[in-house]
Amino acid sequence: MEDYEVVIGLEVHAELSTKTKIFCSCPTTFGAEPNTQVCPICMGMPGTLPVLNEKVVEYAVKAGLATNCEITRNSKNDRKNYFYPDLPKAYQISQFDKPLCEHGYVEIETDDGKKKIGLTRIHIEEDAGKLNHDEFGGGSLVDLNRAGVPLIEIVSEPDLRSVEEVDLYLKKLKSILEYIEVSDCKMQEGSFRADVNVSVRKKGDTKFGTRTEMKNMNSFRSITRAIEYEASRQIDVLEDGGEVEQESLRWDEVSGKTFSMRNKEDAEDYRYFPDPDLVGIHLSDEYIQNIKDNLPELPESRKERYLNEYNLSQKDARIITSSKYLSDLFEQAIKICNNPKAVSNWIISDISRILNEKEMEPNEIPFTSKELAELVSLIDKGTISSSIGKKVLEELFENPRNPEEIIKEKGWIQISDEGAIKEVVIKVLEANPQSVADYKAGKDKALGFLVGQAMKETKGKANPKMLNEMFLKEING
Ligand code: ADP
Ligand code: ZN
Ligand code: MG
Repeated sequence: MEDYEVVIGLEVHAELSTKTKIFCSCPTTFGAEPNTQVCPICMGMPGTLPVLNEKVVEYAVKAGLATNCEITRNSKNDRKNYFYPDLPKAYQISQFDKPLCEHGYVEIETDDGKKKIGLTRIHIEEDAGKLNHDEFGGGSLVDLNRAGVPLIEIVSEPDLRSVEEVDLYLKKLKSILEYIEVSDCKMQEGSFRADVNVSVRKKGDTKFGTRTEMKNMNSFRSITRAIEYEASRQIDVLEDGGEVEQESLRWDEVSGKTFSMRNKEDAEDYRYFPDPDLVGIHLSDEYIQNIKDNLPELPESRKERYLNEYNLSQKDARIITSSKYLSDLFEQAIKICNNPKAVSNWIISDISRILNEKEMEPNEIPFTSKELAELVSLIDKGTISSSIGKKVLEELFENPRNPEEIIKEKGWIQISDEGAIKEVVIKVLEANPQSVADYKAGKDKALGFLVGQAMKETKGKANPKMLNEMFLKEING
């Protein structure tokens, strides 16, 4: 295993969030009743004429500019011919030799420093329909709602060398597409999915090995598992003196193995030719410049700003800016409560932990930036302790509402009344003479224990600063 190097190239498909499909005016909303968002054009009826949706070109150019691509001034659509029951025309309208964008790169930050992953091309194409395999009738039913939904396909160079790099690359790409708002990148809805090409070679070899391809992977976890499995399978084949066959494989999540689907087609099998029903795509310099001038701030630049303006650490800034949603939440919350350090801590520790536990995406966070800001302010003002703050956050995830309301309703307001604090302190001191003696003998840790006991006694509601002071005052007489 150590003698080998794994080589990976990805073809990412992202569904564009245009309102209508790429060649007709049917809506693209996800989850509608089967075959309710279709028309003769996207159902592939003979004699119908496609008309290219201008937004699709704009979004693809945006994606190209955000990933350092050159934009093709004279581009076109081509037919890619193949038959499958989810593709009634028996060809997919895609792009062959003149993709809209070429020669770009995405930069990732590995443990060994920054690395540029080359992008061969970004082209536009239409999605196919979806087959629903009917367990009861024994047949398959086709739903053409997805047929004609616009996609960009982002093809990387075989520049990736490990599952870690693949993970960083996909996350970076996903965040860029989210920032420029061309795709919602919902992996669970298939809006962001990848064909994963894997080969292995002996370290030091200059020639690539033969690759296999796993199609339509839509979770980070399965991509990682599939690459690990496939790389070691290929190494075993080579070690046994065999040859890796170029083929398309299916990854099976349950068994954790890959299975052969078919031998891989080459481009000539598709008989690409320019679609005679569509005109060429000609882009002026002004058109491209205008899109460039209006690109929103990208994650990289937001990250730099967080380092400089708010003094966040590299790591914290990276985690927050990796998601546009988290980053927007951060910026909106600090506008209200003006405490960047505290807001970033909440996002990085407790909010991220809960998202993980609940297997939620950041954009599924149920509370608003205003509610997060109020939580931070309540702690800053000393109305609640940070341990109560954690309980308020849990509550915000369960049943989001104004944090002030939550603490009133739950009776969580911090005890800052001197008399009440003193009462608890005396009670705890009487119950723990040994700790008092320890503290007097120089064991500073004993004070922490006493404060902890008092917190327990007040169910986390005592003002910790006042507790500390009161203990010192009482112990030292
Ligand atoms: P297709 O899969 O449609 O035939 P390409 O031939 O352009 O398309 O290659 C698709 C992907 O395969 C690219 O992302 C490329 O980086 C990757 N790739 C090509 N050769 C190898 C290889 N030897 N090992 C791993 N990935 C590879
Ligand atoms: Zn249609
Ligand atoms: Mg491929």
